[in-house]
Amino acid sequence: MKKYTSTRNNKLMKTSKEAILQGICDDGGLFVLPDLKAIKVSMQSLMNLSYQKIAVNIFQLLLPDFTKAEIMECVTAAYKDSFSSSQVTPLKDVQANHILELFHGVTCAFKDVGLQMLPQLMKCALKAYANEKILILTATSGDTGKAALAGFCDIDQIGIGVFYPDRGVSDMQRLQMVSQEGKNVFVCGITGNFDDAQTSVKAIFQSNNVKAKLKKQNIIVSSANSINIGRLIPQIIYYFYAYQQMVAKKHIRMNEKINFCVPTGNFGNVLAGYYAKMLGCPIDKFIVACNENHVVSDFIQTGIYDRNRPFHKTISPSMDILISSNLERVLYYKSEQNDQYIKSLMQDLQNNGKFTIDQAILNHLQEDFYGGYCDDQTCKQVIKEVYKKSGYVLDPHSAVGYHVMQEYFKQDANTPCVLLATASPYKFCEKVYDALFDEGSSDPFVCMQELAKKTKGEIPKALINLASKPILHKDVIQPAKMQEYVLQQAGELFHD
Ligand SMILES: *Cc1c(COP(=O)(O)O)cnc(C)c1O
Repeated sequence: MKKYTSTRNNKLMKTSKEAILQGICDDGGLFVLPDLKAIKVSMQSLMNLSYQKIAVNIFQLLLPDFTKAEIMECVTAAYKDSFSSSQVTPLKDVQANHILELFHGVTCAFKDVGLQMLPQLMKCALKAYANEKILILTATSGDTGKAALAGFCDIDQIGIGVFYPDRGVSDMQRLQMVSQEGKNVFVCGITGNFDDAQTSVKAIFQSNNVKAKLKKQNIIVSSANSINIGRLIPQIIYYFYAYQQMVAKKHIRMNEKINFCVPTGNFGNVLAGYYAKMLGCPIDKFIVACNENHVVSDFIQTGIYDRNRPFHKTISPSMDILISSNLERVLYYKSEQNDQYIKSLMQDLQNNGKFTIDQAILNHLQEDFYGGYCDDQTCKQVIKEVYKKSGYVLDPHSAVGYHVMQEYFKQDANTPCVLLATASPYKFCEKVYDALFDEGSSDPFVCMQELAKKTKGEIPKALINLASKPILHKDVIQPAKMQEYVLQQAGELFHD
């Protein structure tokens, strides 16, 4: 059962429950199943199943120390009625394009798919540790924070703390977070960008001092970022589901290969797709779409990962990232599980902000991944053009994907492609409204009403309700103060 290991140490062995509770390995590596390619899912066997049933099937393969009953319980709690579509992630045809809408969860971005499930898996894994408490710490570029808060709110034995870049999130994202209710939560802005937040959270995970102090109160820290396998694995499901829908709608024949275009930041979403491919989902290529912070698409093109560059604040803020954690997992598989090689690359990244992979590995990488990017101005044009042509309103993240997908069609127009739409346009309403009608807006709620009226759309309920919610979390601190803040908050979270 101890099948999970570290990308930086193949000798480590953990069960999936241990890996989920721990989040990240002590050596800084990420938990991986080394023999993932040996597990095969038959696409045919999933053909007539619901989203939930596909999920149960795949979770059983990847989480072998959970019983089937436990998995079914988790899947039901996560997906029975927390999504506004019974299909969880419906596939829409927009003219000749296929768009998989991942934003029908409680916070209107794709993070809900993973973050409704992760708390259930953790709760289940914690049954073996009656006296332990877990403090989830999360750095967010905007969407993870709220989705994690919503998923973990008032779950027994678990507390959750979220750090967001004070000036790096949209109004709606901030409101969603600072209005979060629940006894077991804290939310705090930092005076830095997402990478500063993520780096400091990682440092807390690796600080023996912090860990020792928390341990005295029976608290262990863990992560809800996409480095946690309990969040990553749920995202594999919608690739299989999308494929099933493509066949069911007769867009493709069974076993015909398709591409997926994925708006990318931390590489979690597209990595889940690569896992689906390794498990046997008939996928040819992943089109990795970045915004102006295109460190990942440059890497796919050149084999050089270089974060020494300016950080841009864009209209697709959830992709404003220069350190893409989950690449480490792809490189682990692409280097034939070479843990020492991965360790040295990550050392280079830490020391110089840069690493270069071997040509042979780059060639392998390019067999599966194509990288491109889209700047803000093009993104706005795309939102407008797509709306004019089809009446469909893309959010800025999904529009980045749409543009890069169109670019890719110039070199291969024959392979069908599914675009992942990662957020509701209402979540980034002001940017979308500006793109469509060249008009600013002073109030996000008025803006949503106007957008809905003019485009004949529907505002997600979770966003309308925000207007009447009080602001409960007002702290903003420097990144250097995060450790201290965590220790202070941890003491308070678990008292009634
Ligand atoms: C998080 C997020 C992304 C980026 O996903 P990664 O898994 O970090 O690559 C893209 N779009 C939206 C709306 C997001 O919230």
